[in-house]
Amino acid sequence: MANQDDIFKNLVSHAKEYGFVFPSSEIYDGLSAVYDYAQYGVELKKNIRDYWWKSMVQFHENIVGIDAAIFMHPTTWKASGHIDAFNDPLIDNKDSKKRYRADVLVEDYLAKIEGKISKEVEKASKRFGEAFNEEQFRATNPRVLENQQKMDEVRKRFFTALEKGNLEEVRQVIIDCEIACPISGTRNWTEVRQFNLMFSTSMGSVSEDANTIYLRPETAQGIFVNYLNVQKTGRMKIPFGIAQTGKAFRNEIVARQFIFRMREFEQMEMQYFVRPGTEMEWYKYWKEARMKWHLSLGMPSSKYRFHDHDKLAHYANAAADIEFDFPFGFKELEGIHSRTDFDLTAHQNHSGKKLQYFDPELNESYVPYVVETSIGLDRMFLAVLSHAYHEEKLEDGSERVVLRIPPMLAPVKAAILPLVAKDGLPEKGREIMERLKCDYMCQYEEKDSIGRRYRRQDAIGTPYCITIDHQTTQDNTVTIRERDTMEQHRVAIDELHAIIGSRLKPIL
Ligand code: ATP
Repeated sequence: MANQDDIFKNLVSHAKEYGFVFPSSEIYDGLSAVYDYAQYGVELKKNIRDYWWKSMVQFHENIVGIDAAIFMHPTTWKASGHIDAFNDPLIDNKDSKKRYRADVLVEDYLAKIEGKISKEVEKASKRFGEAFNEEQFRATNPRVLENQQKMDEVRKRFFTALEKGNLEEVRQVIIDCEIACPISGTRNWTEVRQFNLMFSTSMGSVSEDANTIYLRPETAQGIFVNYLNVQKTGRMKIPFGIAQTGKAFRNEIVARQFIFRMREFEQMEMQYFVRPGTEMEWYKYWKEARMKWHLSLGMPSSKYRFHDHDKLAHYANAAADIEFDFPFGFKELEGIHSRTDFDLTAHQNHSGKKLQYFDPELNESYVPYVVETSIGLDRMFLAVLSHAYHEEKLEDGSERVVLRIPPMLAPVKAAILPLVAKDGLPEKGREIMERLKCDYMCQYEEKDSIGRRYRRQDAIGTPYCITIDHQTTQDNTVTIRERDTMEQHRVAIDELHAIIGSRLKPIL
């Protein structure tokens, strides 16, 4: 049995070999943490984006979409706090010359101690069998208690230092914990420095006059600065939402794990404008609504969990992540944040323009509060792909790689496969293609044996293979093969459109 690491490696190669994701500018050896979506990847990505858009904009009468520019007036980022505070603490190992995020080094260290505790618990559970009381064991076992105390102390010391911007103390925690560089194995560390994650460039052709502008690190600000324009032109009444999908850029220090952490990525965000004082109600509403959206794709609920933040960003009064069980463990997939009136008030102060909403029901004006849902499209793509990827041994001893992508998201919905390329079968196939292609992405293939064609479709996650055989020319029926079970049923050509359509719906 291949382990998780191997499976993840195989998934990354599969994504390249079958035209989902390529490293950017690969002929020049790629660009770190930048990727291109290939012919099937772009379809999967578009389907995820479309479903998100539909569930936000089409399903909600009070949510509309916009598409703001990537470049924004530089003061935007002063107001939002990104110029001053969108930093990661970084540290270099002098021997390996590798750069790390100080918080990631400490988190990894803590995870190792956590692992030790889990092992103790596991061992004891085996020893005591059914009589084992985990809670009691954790509360009394000296080794567990000692490790737990160590973790609590380090965590407290480290995050207090970070919060206070005491970078010397941040470094001292790393030294005191004896954290070594995973590459060189040494503890020869530089000072810790703050590193701003925004990419900058200049606008204007004459460099002296050039203005520094930034590639947006989040799409949200394009919505904040436009909210009153949208409210007025769309005659929106609070509560209402504005949705947007688009590129965001962050100069991530540690870019690892394929498309999980990229320097150029795409976000799907929705900012919901509410009456002050009602934000907690809406925060709860959107937490639930977003989890429902994920589950409607048919991936099991055990793959998801909420992580409520104890430590809040400066703009938030409540925040939670929806985490997904990626091949490298549970990690953030989406954030739901109650952002108060922080951003709108900051923009009001920096621009000198009133950003208040007049509430006709209360007959008063106020700056609305905002609850946002923010999901990375590329991370969602990785969630879908990693859950879908299966290496299977079949009953006849052969093997197949199958992508069990939820049918509604699959790049190709149906493959149309004449059994042989003669006797009128290709003509029938083309006829079916014409009837389906307007509504569904289809692929017509007549080369190679039918078995090899099925394998190729399995490998790109096509849920339905429609096979045309000699019987088709007599009674206008075909077989429809299911990707996951490999079962085949005979159906009339006239029914195909409806059958496929009925299976491409979300599980609501
Ligand atoms: P992380 O802690 O993983 O860096 P974050 O908390 O900074 O993420 P947010 O600022 O809340 O992320 O961004 C919202 C969403 O955008 C995240 O939940 C994630 O899905 C996505 N995202 C953020 N940074 C990246 C990145 N570098 N690459 C891909 N997706 C990203």
